[in-house]
Amino acid sequence: MFYLWLGFVFLIGAVVGSFINVCIARLPFEKSILWPGSRCGRCLQPIHALDNLPLLGYWLLRGRCRSCGQRFSVSYFSVELFTACAFAGLFYLEIGRNILDLPYLKDREREIQWGLMPLQAWAVFFWHATLLGFLITTSLCDLQHLEVPLSVTVCGTVVGLIGATFLAWPFPDAAPVPPGPLGPPISPGLYPWPVWLPAQLPSWMPPGSWQLGFATGLAGALVGMMTLRCVRFLFGLGRGKEGLGIGDADVMMMAGAFLGWQPTLLAFFVGVFVALFFGVVQLIRKGDQALAFAPALAVGVMLTLLIWPTVSRTPNVFLLFSEAWLLGGVVAVGAVLFLSASFMLRLVRGPEPAQAVEGQEKKAGGGAT
Ligand SMILES: [Zn+2]
Repeated sequence: MFYLWLGFVFLIGAVVGSFINVCIARLPFEKSILWPGSRCGRCLQPIHALDNLPLLGYWLLRGRCRSCGQRFSVSYFSVELFTACAFAGLFYLEIGRNILDLPYLKDREREIQWGLMPLQAWAVFFWHATLLGFLITTSLCDLQHLEVPLSVTVCGTVVGLIGATFLAWPFPDAAPVPPGPLGPPISPGLYPWPVWLPAQLPSWMPPGSWQLGFATGLAGALVGMMTLRCVRFLFGLGRGKEGLGIGDADVMMMAGAFLGWQPTLLAFFVGVFVALFFGVVQLIRKGDQALAFAPALAVGVMLTLLIWPTVSRTPNVFLLFSEAWLLGGVVAVGAVLFLSASFMLRLVRGPEPAQAVEGQEKKAGGGAT
């Protein structure tokens, strides 16, 4: 029965992927995503409802417009398939395997395997699936246009803050589970940790209250935004040229509203390592080009979501996030190291010439918009 739900989630992912296709084709040009319906980019004939089915539509049309024969890019199909697989994978890990280690799901393991899904399990999955959908959209926009549309990130942040208010820690549990001898230090919820240590929360911010939820989401959004902006500023100071788009800061602001500030900080560091990896791969395959940072950040966010239950159990990480002076010290040392690294980059590679507009040529090829 659980696998029936998995198939259902796969289909939902395909529909969302289809919607993401519309978004990435229109939003960077500030067009409406609701009107008009999908149509061919060359002859402007509307695409029939049947041909517009996610995943199947592309093969029904054999990748061509029914009226004029214009070729549609295979990326429409790939985005739908990728989103469907990503949704199914997330559902399997979070609900099937309880990778978030939620006590609520652990207690209902048997029912879930039989396919009797509690509403809270759906809330957990759909909350992170929403984040995943926003991250896929921003990543694809960044890959295609080297720019993240503000409309997506601001919309994502608002959605994140509203959800944060309703899904306050320790949701889906009503009350925090007291830690056992080998258990996690903080009872894991959909928002893994509240805005500050549960024992030190002010009385007007009890567990499960909307005040706590909103504060958790808001702190995440602010930390996500500020981290990226500070890094951008330091890089500009040391390197002598702009290194990051402001859109990357907005991606982390959005993710922060969905995660809370502690995982957001970790997600940034994971994202930097992913970006280094992507950068080396791109350097080998295509030479020195402008690198889209948003996809790396997105991978960092989703990885962090899955590894946080393990990482947050290690005493050092717990200490780091519970002692303000320690955290401040680590951040300060990191900032100084980063500033000197980017200054070294300036010494090694020299000042950037003004005509650095590589990788800007528009991707040719037909498409439906
Ligand atoms: Zn056509």
